[in-house]
Amino acid sequence: MTFFSRRILNRKPKSVAAERDTIFKRLDPSSTEAAERVEQTRLMMASCAVCPRECGAARLEGEIGTCRSDADLRVASWHLHHGEEPYISGSQGSGTIFLTGCSLRCQYCQNHSISQNSGGQVMNTQELSSLMLDLQDSGAHNINFVSPTHHAPQLLDAILTARRDGLAIPIVWNTSGYERVELLRLLDGVVDIYLADMRYGEDRNGRALSKVRDYWTVNRKAIKEMHRQVGDLALDAHGIAERGLAIRHLVLPSDLSRSRTIFEFLATEVSPATMVNVMSQYYPAYAASDDPRLNRRVTRDEFTDAVNAARNAGLTRLDVQGMI
Ligand code: SF4
Repeated sequence: MTFFSRRILNRKPKSVAAERDTIFKRLDPSSTEAAERVEQTRLMMASCAVCPRECGAARLEGEIGTCRSDADLRVASWHLHHGEEPYISGSQGSGTIFLTGCSLRCQYCQNHSISQNSGGQVMNTQELSSLMLDLQDSGAHNINFVSPTHHAPQLLDAILTARRDGLAIPIVWNTSGYERVELLRLLDGVVDIYLADMRYGEDRNGRALSKVRDYWTVNRKAIKEMHRQVGDLALDAHGIAERGLAIRHLVLPSDLSRSRTIFEFLATEVSPATMVNVMSQYYPAYAASDDPRLNRRVTRDEFTDAVNAARNAGLTRLDVQGMI
């Protein structure tokens, strides 16, 4: 087999879309409920409980939370991204918008210049809405918010504004997977595609490596809620995602990610047809060299073991990146 290949091991590509068991209804962006949700999420920033840290920062008064954010929405960059999963980037690219800050503190963060600072361009609702519409006009298949969690209140407002102004393409919530169910419920009918990390199959490693006490406990509930809202990933006739849940799992050295536990959870408690991108591209970045366990790449054997664990768990839609 090819080294560093990328293959989608998708045993039933067409049947999944046909087997949709939920009818997706978008929230009417002009409805009273939409306005109420915007206000509800905004108020979550008063003593902040937007993400599961619930650190209580008074963001509406300018206090900066653990995620390094106050009430201003800060955008690090945006472009038509051709390097996401094929079902996200398609042929024309994904309209990707990178937000600054993050609620996690991953020791090996490969995006640390964006995630661990509070820089970026401040945008108001109308400016972000216009940016989304510009990306749509440029041919983007979707709008892809990277690290959106801590900015959920501002993003919800901007998405609904853009919908009122003609945004038709799907919204991708490209998240660390560390999300409150209470917050996710307010995104029901707004987010079309959840592209969610599952980083650790136990809380202990999340505590040690991402500085949150309960990653696995929170992540499992969040993934179930995402799946309840949007179902399995549904693709159009060109193989581009229309709606649904897709998982990213970065295999860490020495099985620090506890891959098998994650795959068994997905197969038994979410759906065996969950699209799972098993990623081999870990490299020591940021502060990874402080921990000898993290200070190397994943071996081919480790990665093969993880892919086999996914297959053995019964997952039928694996997007495998490299090394086998
Ligand atoms: S989103 Fe930021 S400010 Fe709010 S609870 Fe999480 S870390 Fe704290």
